Amino acid sequence: MIDIDVRVPAGAGPPADPAGDPAADPGDGGPAAVEGGGRGPLRLARRMRGMVPSAVREILKVADRPDILSFAGGLPAPELFPVAEIAEAHARVLAREGRGALQYSVTEGHLPLREWIAARLRTRGVDSDARRLLMTSGSQQGIDLVARLLLDPGDVVLVEDPTYLAALQVFSASEARAIGVPGDDAGMCVEPLERLLLQYRPKLIYVVTDFANPKGTSLGVARRHELLRLARRHDVPILEDDPYGELRFSGDPRPSLAALDQDERVIQLGTFSKTLAPGMRLGWIHGSPAAVAGLTMLKQAADLHTATLPQRAASALLERFDYDGHLGRLRAVYGQRRDAMIAALDELMPPGTRFTRPEGGMFVWLQLPPGLRDEPLFHRAIARQVAFVPGHPFFVEPGRHGFIRLNYSNRPPELIREGIARLADAMREPVPA
Ligand code: PMP
Repeated sequence: MIDIDVRVPAGAGPPADPAGDPAADPGDGGPAAVEGGGRGPLRLARRMRGMVPSAVREILKVADRPDILSFAGGLPAPELFPVAEIAEAHARVLAREGRGALQYSVTEGHLPLREWIAARLRTRGVDSDARRLLMTSGSQQGIDLVARLLLDPGDVVLVEDPTYLAALQVFSASEARAIGVPGDDAGMCVEPLERLLLQYRPKLIYVVTDFANPKGTSLGVARRHELLRLARRHDVPILEDDPYGELRFSGDPRPSLAALDQDERVIQLGTFSKTLAPGMRLGWIHGSPAAVAGLTMLKQAADLHTATLPQRAASALLERFDYDGHLGRLRAVYGQRRDAMIAALDELMPPGTRFTRPEGGMFVWLQLPPGLRDEPLFHRAIARQVAFVPGHPFFVEPGRHGFIRLNYSNRPPELIREGIARLADAMREPVPA
């Protein structure tokens, strides 16, 4: 499974842009249409115009082949899922709560689980309690609900450029306009922010503060303060997406924006996807009680509530499970994998290659030497049975073809080294004129 493969239903929307750029406008200006059931085309809503099937999605299917050593997926290591403990927790919930665990339940989510999350957030400096939390079907749903809460068609969202592709897809589906803020190794640059805030009057700033997808970089502490100061001054809410914050393997922890927030300006998203298992689809939104009340209405309209059984099972699991011990194991394993990837890149990459050195999370972002392009390189890499994600879809504007994203959480160190060696070979292959 490729994590950029998830949001666009096959066959929906207008034909793919021939240049293969998923961010490109279909260009006809008219309503999108698909063939429907032999009675003429379906007339799609206007929001589907921005939802262009991605040519990258097609080429990435090959990365799922069993013979391919793939750094493409955004996948946690399945061997670290606590399968036996999750099974036991489900059995315990079903034995203890029986039918209640299979019944409809409240939209806000299972109260003991929200209380556990609130207590955990408080240990990380966030002023949380159950009233400030809404359980979601993964943090992805959190992005979608916050977009519905705050964005009207045409509204602007400021994002670090590049940013999480599926967030861009949500903003596109909201008919909002993402404007990119340049970033560097310390995350979103705050220097241009004031100008952009004045120029675009955004309705929202979206930021992945720790170990961002796709770059692996984290927002510097001084920038966190400055971002909050500017957001206050221009009265813009911030959506802080934090799926990776608990996965730090080196360096000092940094306060989240939610922890620094003084005026309930920050809505923070969290998830068990990277720490327990993504298939449980358990995420949450922390925000002011007023924001949570609005989001709860939207959540009810979307899916009534997040599935009852996984919520109760997670809650039962966390009664007994050594969550911090588990996180310690994840950090140790992912840290070794990060080290293996960075060591191999340091040793094997051709001159002119630049890459990030993440202190946590799952991704390295690599800038190719001048003259190399992400997609042709992908095909040469596949010929050597190694895969990555071409970088251009993560950018707000089309045309940035000199970057790739590498995931290290899903392969053991020996295979990481082997894969980077194959990638280095592909990069050194003479490019046909
Ligand atoms: N935000 C970011 C930055 C991510 O990388 C991901 C997962 N790829 C998500 C949100 C969604 O995660 P989930 O819905 O599984 O919690």
